Amino acid sequence: MAKNLSKIAKQKKIKYFLISFVDLFGVLRSKLVPASAISDMQKNGAGFAGFATWLDMTPADTDMFAIPDPNSLIQLPWNKEVGWLASDLWMNGKQVEASPRVMLKNQIRKLSKQNLSMKSGVECEYFLISSDGSNIADSKDIQPKPCYDQSALMRRYDLIKEICDGMIELGWKPYQNDHEDANGQFEMNWNYSDCLVTADRHTFFKFMVKNLSEKHGLRATFMPKPFENLTGNGCHAHISLWNGSKNKFLDNADRYGLSKIAYNFLGGIMKHASSLSTFFNPTINSYRRINAPPTKSGASWSPSSISYTGNNRTHMIRIPDPGRFELRLMDGSANPYLLQAGIIAAGLYGLNNKLDPGKPLNCNMYTDYKKYPNLPKLPDNLEGSLEKISENKDMRHAFGNDVINSYIKLKKQELNLFNKTDSFNKKKPITEWEKNNTLDC
Ligand SMILES: [Mg+2]
Repeated sequence: MAKNLSKIAKQKKIKYFLISFVDLFGVLRSKLVPASAISDMQKNGAGFAGFATWLDMTPADTDMFAIPDPNSLIQLPWNKEVGWLASDLWMNGKQVEASPRVMLKNQIRKLSKQNLSMKSGVECEYFLISSDGSNIADSKDIQPKPCYDQSALMRRYDLIKEICDGMIELGWKPYQNDHEDANGQFEMNWNYSDCLVTADRHTFFKFMVKNLSEKHGLRATFMPKPFENLTGNGCHAHISLWNGSKNKFLDNADRYGLSKIAYNFLGGIMKHASSLSTFFNPTINSYRRINAPPTKSGASWSPSSISYTGNNRTHMIRIPDPGRFELRLMDGSANPYLLQAGIIAAGLYGLNNKLDPGKPLNCNMYTDYKKYPNLPKLPDNLEGSLEKISENKDMRHAFGNDVINSYIKLKKQELNLFNKTDSFNKKKPITEWEKNNTLDC
């Protein structure tokens, strides 16, 4: 039996629900619904005009309905009157295939046919900036190597404590918070979960950080590269496949502690990485972060070539511990659902085709890349990644042609708008267009 949201509202004193969904560009949209109306909304959904969002619809289309998933309910730690719900989109009695949460659930279903589920954790980096986005918020935060700077971290104690207390209360099991490698940049880590739970939490985390930052007179941004001379905002993911409570990636007999299944899955991700950068690095600004020159701190901490390694952060995939690997390609603008869906689609291809990723490379890829001229490179711009996915029959098969075509169409519209006023050049400063359109990603 599904949870009864009306009853829960009475028990938890929830007065309003945010019935939310994320569109193809990762924008979080919602309706604020009084608890007195939640019973009907739980059954029939909240109505939205699809064309008004980044979904491939027309103004003539009928209403689409966001039907909330009661298992995703999060009572806002800073405003207990409000309950947040992730939803799945429906139209004309059918699920909207080209909507991110549905896309992820379809990939999860394919994995479950092989008695597997994916667990994942994400590391969301963000900057605290001035309200106009022109600079970082803390004028004292100027160290050339600011990573783990205690003073700069503790100047933000009130905000970080409020976010972390919220995660503790919600049972996410957060375990560390730090100042990251760029001035003004922070990261907060919580425990990994089933990938749908992680995607919902990732969505809510971004909302929580932005909302609480505003409450503290600050602005938070997950923009991939808000300042050209500083390290960008990554969103690394740690991945493992499970059968019930058994980690199918773990093999203690292997040098890195990974099973054959894990290497096949990893091989699929390597094969399709450049196509999937369209989901993992979905904004024009994303391509200032990958293939980037070293930053003020000495390293960009982002990949340029498609390679994997042991515990070494200069490659796209790192194996930090037995039983899991870390994909370091994604940035802060990645859609939380497409991030997980892309990993499953590519990994499953690797599993089904028993792909061998070859031997790991144990070099410093930031300095030794010239010794490996034949390694496949990541795309240099959004156009390049769209071309890759457009030509990728395997990913078209995994997601369906209509879904991929819709995504490409909307992204090309965005690129056309950008190209009317600007051009993308990594050697030139970040454009106003990028700031205006990506600071709130
Ligand atoms: Mg980090």
